[in-house]
Amino acid sequence: MSMKNFKDVFENYQWDDIKDKLEKVTLFEVERSLQKKSKTIEDFLNFLSPVASQKIEVMAKMTQQLTQKRFGKTIQLYAPLYLSNECQNICTYCGFSLDNSIKRKTLTNAELIVEATVLKAMDVNHVLLVSGEANKTVGIDYFLNAIKLLKPYFVNISIEVQPLSEEEYQQLYNAGVNSVLVYQETYHQEIYKEYHPKGKKSNFNFRLETPDRIGTAGIHKIGLGVLLGLEDWRVDSFFNALHIDYLQKTYWKSKFSVSFPRLRPAEGIIEPNFVMSDKDLLQLICAYRIWNEDLEISISTRENEKFRNNIISLGATAMSAASKTNPGGYAVDKQSLQQFETSDERSMEEIKNIIKEAGYAPVMKDWDAVYSGT
Ligand code: SF4
Repeated sequence: MSMKNFKDVFENYQWDDIKDKLEKVTLFEVERSLQKKSKTIEDFLNFLSPVASQKIEVMAKMTQQLTQKRFGKTIQLYAPLYLSNECQNICTYCGFSLDNSIKRKTLTNAELIVEATVLKAMDVNHVLLVSGEANKTVGIDYFLNAIKLLKPYFVNISIEVQPLSEEEYQQLYNAGVNSVLVYQETYHQEIYKEYHPKGKKSNFNFRLETPDRIGTAGIHKIGLGVLLGLEDWRVDSFFNALHIDYLQKTYWKSKFSVSFPRLRPAEGIIEPNFVMSDKDLLQLICAYRIWNEDLEISISTRENEKFRNNIISLGATAMSAASKTNPGGYAVDKQSLQQFETSDERSMEEIKNIIKEAGYAPVMKDWDAVYSGT
């Protein structure tokens, strides 16, 4: 008997049917869903619909209350640490794409320590390790070595790299990695191939099944998301939530987070196909929160200052700050090419102050550590 995985669930849904359903949702259905005690994926679809945007004030208020009830008035802060920009894939929206002739760089042991020291001086305790996909040079052995070197500097290490095998996720777990993030980019299977024409990433199903391997390995937290701007964000977000819904029921010991990367300018890349406004993004965040009270909601520096200031009290639970999206960006090689342009360039101190001014507490370590008092 083969193990069940998300692919089996996914195959029961059609992209065009979901698109149709979203268009047909009525205001009455949105209101009824808002009043329900426990919410299903069908309710999420209603919150996501075009007509639900008329209820944005009510939804924002509910989002604020639900987030405060579950997470308190706190925002967890973290910073990314780019390990390498080597990549064997062609992704048409990314500055690190194989066909982009940039100088490739992978941090050495000494350089990892230099970057860690700078982040530590900024009071960063939670770091997100990021790389492209270069399995031979930046594979599991590289990651395990990097984690060993970085452990003394950080309380919490998350990782966002190429999809790995279950056994490799197990090794990351044993090495003390707290969370693994992997984004499907788009759940539109045909369009996916156009954005990912070459390399391992062009295998849609292998990527789709990755969170199952992460869950089976027992990783504490799993982060999902889609690249907003590639396809219709409403339909893509429905599938992303469907994925989270399945994972939560299957790997109930793990926690889940969602991120909302909106396509940003980068060297040699395409323009967004579907532009998502700030109001759309707020609706999406509210839809996730009202549907799922336990979900962690992470907001990166891709977003602009104004949006980030406002979202502190509207559903966010984690934010990156002072981010550099190039390997060596903090100290070693400040000029190397970024994966994408960040939008909010304020320092860690400035972000902490903005959070405090909003009446929230910036948290430099993980939730679990805060709640268990360790
Ligand atoms: S998105 Fe990831 S896999 Fe694709 S080119 Fe960029 S770094 Fe490589």
